[in-house]
Amino acid sequence: MDKIKIKDLEVYCNHGVYKEENVLGQKFLVSATLYTDTRLAGITDDLTKSINYGTICHKITQFLKEHTYQLIETAAEQLARFLLLEVKNLEKISIEIKKPWAPVGLPINTVSVEIERKWHTAFIALGSNMGDKEGYISQAIERLEEQEDCEVVKRSDLIVTAPYGVTEQDEFLNGCLELRTLRYPLELLKLLNTIEKEANRERKIHWGPRTLDLDIIFYDDLVMDSEKLTIPHVDMKNRDFVLQPLTQIAAHKRHPIFGKTVAEMLRELKEQ
Ligand code: ADP
Ligand code: MG
Repeated sequence: MDKIKIKDLEVYCNHGVYKEENVLGQKFLVSATLYTDTRLAGITDDLTKSINYGTICHKITQFLKEHTYQLIETAAEQLARFLLLEVKNLEKISIEIKKPWAPVGLPINTVSVEIERKWHTAFIALGSNMGDKEGYISQAIERLEEQEDCEVVKRSDLIVTAPYGVTEQDEFLNGCLELRTLRYPLELLKLLNTIEKEANRERKIHWGPRTLDLDIIFYDDLVMDSEKLTIPHVDMKNRDFVLQPLTQIAAHKRHPIFGKTVAEMLRELKEQ
């Protein structure tokens, strides 16, 4: 992706672990690389099609003066988040905060923290087979949309499907959505689990049918296995009720391990 770079913007502010730092303040140097597509601006010569680096410098200065953190890790984290939420067409950002006057009592040039943060694309499968199924699913979508660090980009239609696994239960309502998010995978899972719990509040039988199931199908092209989380979802290629709605919104998305598109996986499942 194209980059717009800001190097060593000087900001006088009060971040630090020591009280003296918070009171007296000191000089910080901020460098940022803004990842955005500059093609359209390059062709039209129109600033409104790009990101105005002057505006960004002022935003960085204002943000770092208005907040006081102990750690430059936190200052960088919160600044990256603020800019990703605030600046249109900013897909990814790298931020370095240098502290040339860091009170370490030894002759150093600078200490610094550098981080990279970006918007991620996740695909979520939604399912319900109890009570007001449509209500639970639309409530889940609403809760996701409420999060400032999540944006529902696309949603499939909801389809009625026969129960999978334990078959002596009510039919399911299933759908999928595309989510743009700043959350890391485990943070996203935590949010989904919280939304499931909210919907499950009235559930009477502990292991009975579920009011709401939210699964992460894809997260960018990430492949991960851990105790709590497997991405891509381990059973997606066998689940018609996932592949069918997913084909509606992401037919051409390619599975990072199998190398097949969602539409291809659905076709193969139907042929079996
Ligand atoms: P299932 O979705 O398979 O019907 P549950 O919703 O009860 O079952 O999920 C059981 C556990 O699966 C969750 O607590 C979660 O930690 C784990 N899990 C592993 N991979 C994923 C994933 N990709 N999306 C959601 N949960 C996952
Ligand atoms: Mg689940």
